[in-house]
Amino acid sequence: MENRRVRLRFAPSPTGGLHMGGVRTALFSYLFAKKHNGDFILRIEDTDQTRYVKGAEEYIIESLKWCGIEPNEGVGFGDGPHAPYRQSERKELGIYKKYADLLIASGHAYFAFDTSEELDAMRKRLEAAKVVAPQYNSVSRQNMRNSLTLSEDEVKKLMDAGTPYVIRLKVPRNEEIRFHDIIRGWVVVNSTQVDDKVLLKSDGMPTYHLAHIVDDIEMEVSHAVRGEEWLPSAPSHVLIYRYLGMEDKMPLLAHLPLILKPDGNGKLSKRDKSGIPMFPLDWYDERTGEKYVGYRETGFFPEAFINMLAMLGWNPGTTQEIFSLEELIQAFSFERVNKSGAKFDPEKTKWFNQQYLRKKSNLELAELFSPILKEKGINADAKFIEGVCNLVKEKAHFVSEFWSGGSYFFIAPTTFDADVIKKRWNEQSAGFIKEVAEAFKNLTTFTAAESEATFKATAEKMGIGAGQVMQLFRVCLSGVGGGPMLFEMVELLGKDEVVKRLETALNSIK
Ligand code: GLU
Repeated sequence: MENRRVRLRFAPSPTGGLHMGGVRTALFSYLFAKKHNGDFILRIEDTDQTRYVKGAEEYIIESLKWCGIEPNEGVGFGDGPHAPYRQSERKELGIYKKYADLLIASGHAYFAFDTSEELDAMRKRLEAAKVVAPQYNSVSRQNMRNSLTLSEDEVKKLMDAGTPYVIRLKVPRNEEIRFHDIIRGWVVVNSTQVDDKVLLKSDGMPTYHLAHIVDDIEMEVSHAVRGEEWLPSAPSHVLIYRYLGMEDKMPLLAHLPLILKPDGNGKLSKRDKSGIPMFPLDWYDERTGEKYVGYRETGFFPEAFINMLAMLGWNPGTTQEIFSLEELIQAFSFERVNKSGAKFDPEKTKWFNQQYLRKKSNLELAELFSPILKEKGINADAKFIEGVCNLVKEKAHFVSEFWSGGSYFFIAPTTFDADVIKKRWNEQSAGFIKEVAEAFKNLTTFTAAESEATFKATAEKMGIGAGQVMQLFRVCLSGVGGGPMLFEMVELLGKDEVVKRLETALNSIK
């Protein structure tokens, strides 16, 4: 085991859009693989054809690309030495059947011919008898139609007649199954709680339980990282490896904690209403007609999304919160992944985006803001746009807020905050606005400092406290009572525009 090459796979089923919990599983696998110079594989687990959703595979690939956590092997990423990487295609290699046959031959799996009606009847019987977990197991299988209860002859006859059958794992009674999970430590389960899982379905398709084991063996996977919801099936998986005589090929297991609702009550739902997306990209579910908005389309930066996700269940053991992908790779370990659920925090999620927004240069921000401006029909000077970004970025979480918070930089206001006007507009303050506009006209250079000094000198001359007219002055320029640093805004707008706006305000405010 120690000498194994580090190889981790992300193995989603294409049953819908990949939600953020899935992305976190991929992220943790990616981080560990990269940290140990290993491989990160994308395998598509599409054995359940009834749950197959068109477009889901492409969505998964695009999401990983957007997040910057690209596999170096697998579907959509140039395949690799173990192609194909789609289970439906791997079935054609005959590998799943081969492993199932090995289990049959060693007596650890058996054929079961029960119809769905018979299975239903069994469940009802067990429920009526108040059996806590009604399942097909070492006890109930004795009353069912399978190769353990039927004679060899009967089995042959059924097979020859083409009767549909499944292959089930023969789980022993009352045996302790122990396995180690890197996050949870030792886990011990009694086999009585483990059902005889179906390994191969009647259509010849393997179930997840068999297929992922065969593929993890064949693809030489060293660590299997997945959500906590898979923990209950892990004992069956341990038995399968054991019965195949391939325990040495079993990957180390890591079951990640659940992502919980913001109030900590239960698992985060994909229909969460906190206003923060649950999916990396927009996703449209054709079957239900439901639309889910994506982090990308909401204006999140992939770096912020990834950073936030890493902190959901993992911590660096220090107070550092902002990590680039490279830093995450260096710092990551499964030892620092919590066992208990991680609460999703919508506000913190926005905070992460804000941190990354602030890190961007004004030029980068201007490039992101320009398409929005274009859409609004605004044609502005590149340097001016950069200047606006510089001023409005402090209060924003998203670039899209630059417009809602700063459209007045591009379009002079025609309405003025009524509350401020009501409170502050009077003969004296109007006189001040007129006076300050005149004083500005005489300035030959127009910096923030100069305009501020002129503003204060004018107020003093008129015997008015600068604080009394400050907000009114802002409203005359922008229409609104709040915004970025006032005289920085004045400098950016420029003398002519400022004077023009003050004069317009004087003519419009009654
Ligand atoms: N196909 C499984 C899923 O959709 C993969 C679980 C695993 O990684 O073993 O979650």
